[in-house]
Amino acid sequence: MAQTNLSPPSDFIREIIEEHLRTNRFQGRVATRFPPEPNGYLHIGHAKSVCLNFGIAVQYKGTCNLRMDDTDPSGENQEYVDSIIRDVKWLGFDWEDRLYYASDYFEQLYQYAVQLIKEGKAYVCSLSADEIREYRGTLTKPGKESPYRNRSVEENLDLFQRMRTGEFEEGAHVLRAKIDMTSSNITMRDPVIYRIKKENHYRAGNKWCIYPMYDFAHCLSDSIERITHSICTLEFENNRPLYDWFLDELKVEYHPQQIEFARLNLSFTVLSKRRLIELVEKRYVSGWDDPRMPTLAGMRRRGFTPEAIRNFCERIGVAKNDSVIDMALLENSIREDLNEKAPRVMAVLRSLRVVIDNYPKGQVEEFDCSYHPQNTGMGYRKVPFSRVLYIEKEDFLENPPKKFYRLSIGREVRLRYGYFIKCVSVVKDPNTGEVVEVHCTYDPETRSGFAPDGRKVDATIHWVSAAHSLLVEVRLYDRLFRVANPLEEGSDFTEYLNSKSLEILSSCQVEPSLASAPPGSRFQFERVGYFCVDPVDSSDKALVFNRTVTLRDSWAKISEKEKR
Ligand code: ATP
Ligand code: MG
Repeated sequence: MAQTNLSPPSDFIREIIEEHLRTNRFQGRVATRFPPEPNGYLHIGHAKSVCLNFGIAVQYKGTCNLRMDDTDPSGENQEYVDSIIRDVKWLGFDWEDRLYYASDYFEQLYQYAVQLIKEGKAYVCSLSADEIREYRGTLTKPGKESPYRNRSVEENLDLFQRMRTGEFEEGAHVLRAKIDMTSSNITMRDPVIYRIKKENHYRAGNKWCIYPMYDFAHCLSDSIERITHSICTLEFENNRPLYDWFLDELKVEYHPQQIEFARLNLSFTVLSKRRLIELVEKRYVSGWDDPRMPTLAGMRRRGFTPEAIRNFCERIGVAKNDSVIDMALLENSIREDLNEKAPRVMAVLRSLRVVIDNYPKGQVEEFDCSYHPQNTGMGYRKVPFSRVLYIEKEDFLENPPKKFYRLSIGREVRLRYGYFIKCVSVVKDPNTGEVVEVHCTYDPETRSGFAPDGRKVDATIHWVSAAHSLLVEVRLYDRLFRVANPLEEGSDFTEYLNSKSLEILSSCQVEPSLASAPPGSRFQFERVGYFCVDPVDSSDKALVFNRTVTLRDSWAKISEKEKR
């Protein structure tokens, strides 16, 4: 038997952690956290970070906290908190009783700032935002010291206290760390650590009118929670010296290690909350959970499984340089998972009536059909068969080209799970000339799917019984953007939205076994694709199915064609 390796593949972050375990850097502890800001829904990029942080905790028998990084009142709210909790749970991870809010640390953070002031390591600066930017310098030009840099400790304490009590207008003063205006790392040029913001906080209410900046709040929140490894994305690499500076200067008891990794970029979509908010607010999509959105809420509604997303995240791994992952890889992960898990049923999206002339009127047979050819454990259901059926319009052609093997006049095909039928004539709409009904004969000897005389057919097509099928709505979702990189190709990414990303078919026919399909349940419609019952708009009276993904990657063909 082949040896199976149960531990996930290693990467540079796990190597660092294992080194720390060997050297006993954190007394053998591994404590990570996932720190989203509740100012939007989580997207597949966040899932990479969730899987990484929680995955490491599980692997090394450590812990992972869920922390709302809610230190900026603008745009944060409880709806986002609730959605984050729901999504991380759905992905399959558990923070036990360790749900934290950075806003709960506001008083402690304030006291840390006071400590810095007392030690002469922070000062109240009264330059305007523009002046601060100007004084900061550039990559090639050193910064200039603020004229307020040498205020006395007493004056700084007094001003900072009055900033807190709301005496000053926004922008009048900020608190800055006193580090080095000539540092080659611009982040270290006296960064702002507190600013006045007279905004209500969704959780802290109107208790505060000064709010800490990310760099100050984040490292201290990590330290307060005794995090060992603070894993973040690459754009914070330059901020690491600042992360360490605050913790060193404040002589905190616990000093976590920040480690940066490359964020997930995915083709044919955008992964930035700001852009996703724009899509929602300008109604390009129906909401955060629109099945075309790369949000976990959207992907869940579309029919993605948490397992497929976790497999995808494991497959792409973590690296230290940025790259773009092909959307096809994500789509393939869900295909692979549903190929095993989704029961197979029959549904006709664009229906064409078929009348079997020699089948007795009023007769109904019930076929026992397996839910999965490779997994009989999934069971069987009965599928009714009768004289009038629906088949897929595209499975019939009046004037077929040479290599068309499906139904046409004089041709015989196999009905899935059943008889051979042969087309004998058609009925056309007198006005349009369109074929509206196909007449066939069936061979009663072929019930098993094979002919006793050994004759063969070239195609098997799916069908439903017209008298028994259910009329349902099907929403065909496709990629939200029609270009691989909507952000780089033009100034306004919304110009690259795919106008064909949603097609609604309102009169599809599905087999009656689907009548009791619960919201969110997933199926393979044979020969058509993977679908799920829409958890929002579907009801017992009017079923709605969302296409999760097609059976095969149709975009690969398109880009092949474009290359030619
Ligand atoms: P966005 O860029 O979408 O606005 P953000 O970084 O502002 O995201 P946060 O809520 O701060 O969003 O993110 C929470 C965590 O998720 C952070 O640790 C962040 O590094 C990580 N994260 C965000 N986007 C990605 C991504 N595309 N790939 C991997 N990790 C990500
Ligand atoms: Mg962020």
